[in-house]
Amino acid sequence: MDETPLQILTRIFGYDAFRGAQAEIIDQVIGGGDALVLMPTGGGKSLCYQIPAMVRPGTAVVVSPLIALMQDQVDALRQLGVRAAFLNSSLTPDQAWAVEQGMLEDALDLVYVAPERLLTDRFLSLLERIQVALFAIDEAHCVSQWGHDFRPEYIELSRLHERWPQVPRIALTATADAPTRSEIVKRLRLEEARQFVSSFDRPNIRYRIVEKANPRQQLLSFLRREHPSDAGIVYCLSRRRVDETAAYLQGQGFAALPYHAGLPADMRREHQARFLREEGLVMVATIAFGMGIDKPDVRFVAHLDLPKSLESYYQETGRAGRDGLPADAWMTYGLGDVVMLRRIIEGSQANEHFKRIEMQKLDGMLGYCETTQCRRQVMLNYFGEALAEPCGNCDTCLEPVETWDGTVAAQKALSCIYRTGQSFGSAYLTDVLVGKDLERIRRFGHDKVSTYGVGKELSADQWKSVYRQLVAAGLVAVDMEGHGALRLTEQSRPILRGERSIQLRRDPDRKQTAAAGRVR
Ligand code: ADP
Ligand code: ZN
Repeated sequence: MDETPLQILTRIFGYDAFRGAQAEIIDQVIGGGDALVLMPTGGGKSLCYQIPAMVRPGTAVVVSPLIALMQDQVDALRQLGVRAAFLNSSLTPDQAWAVEQGMLEDALDLVYVAPERLLTDRFLSLLERIQVALFAIDEAHCVSQWGHDFRPEYIELSRLHERWPQVPRIALTATADAPTRSEIVKRLRLEEARQFVSSFDRPNIRYRIVEKANPRQQLLSFLRREHPSDAGIVYCLSRRRVDETAAYLQGQGFAALPYHAGLPADMRREHQARFLREEGLVMVATIAFGMGIDKPDVRFVAHLDLPKSLESYYQETGRAGRDGLPADAWMTYGLGDVVMLRRIIEGSQANEHFKRIEMQKLDGMLGYCETTQCRRQVMLNYFGEALAEPCGNCDTCLEPVETWDGTVAAQKALSCIYRTGQSFGSAYLTDVLVGKDLERIRRFGHDKVSTYGVGKELSADQWKSVYRQLVAAGLVAVDMEGHGALRLTEQSRPILRGERSIQLRRDPDRKQTAAAGRVR
């Protein structure tokens, strides 16, 4: 009489087979065990708790931080005939009461609830009076204090286990670097849980980074050439840049909408709803946009600014191509990004330990940007996963990067920093190296220093690239007080003394790349 999980999958959801570890995870939870599920976005996490919720007696409680999306998820389930409801601050007291009655009458298989509501006395005592089928903790990385999605209420969720030790729990996340994973286990008391770790590779996403010159213009030609009428997301660091970029794209004939935390809530809701429902909209957004967005046909994610970690980058780019069809992750990146992010981290109120971790994460991101190897290998390696062969679907695979012995250039670049008193940024230093005849240089007497004009063998663009790579590799520090002035570090010395050589990547010539058009 009882349906098997596979029968439910077919009858209700209309799919013929489980994907990856879904079947195993479902069995684990139905059997009463705990599970920690690490699966990339689009991997199919929801079914891992929805099906056990239908099989196990009682009501499953799904904790989700995404109030805005609960309604959509519940609507979708109801259309399939699943008995689901949600409880959050958007309901009137009458509506909330009706959901509570449904739970008491065992008329619901799933109830989605916001964490702050779950932990109220009212809700906890309601749970005492019903049979809880399981607890599902979605977006479990919100328990991590290191991530940008941190939710203090998530830490309290360990109380559920103390109060209902026999009820199975399933925690799910798409963020899976090792520190976050162990924090989830520790804070949610999931030591006994079976861990299901899927591959994080998203083979249909093509990763590409271009050197930042005129980012808006570069974005425009990328869109015109490759995605003239596709849906996509453009991420910017600041609200102002979001507004400007959205207006710019609108002016160029694109259906672009802004999204950031500074916009009124109803406008944000409307823009999100339009992005989900209409075709070919470009959402220009800060990272406030995106968590849990389930739009299968996002064809590109473009970054105009550097994310602060590879986890963030992976999450954000992961919103592209959830339908499995080819999609682009495209980013502009330059020295200014590094300076900006270092400055933000330095200037934050956080303690030293936190800053150090943030800096390490940024270094991981920079390593990815500067690599001459397959980007996918670098990224998966960061998440502890090995990819045996280069992927063939990233820019470094498609257009192998040349390297060159940059030791002498690095020595010149470093000594120019030193000779000019460690108080200037890369643009000025470049002018000195190529020996530009500028009033400003003469005023400082830098036309008399030994490095003036010693760098004529490289173009100004190439010197900028040298400085960017030196900063990214930690061989040069950025002065946070001095408007991005470059300074030497301990690591500069071995290079200056000729004890260490350095290989640099040869960035593609910008003018040529622009003329050649599309990569490949
Ligand atoms: P996640 O929460 O991991 O990002 P979802 O649970 O939203 O992913 O699933 C992503 C998409 O894949 C959804 O459209 C879902 O219906 C679909 N999906 C999930 N499991 C299967 C399956 N076994 N077969 C086919 N499609 C599936
Ligand atoms: Zn590759």
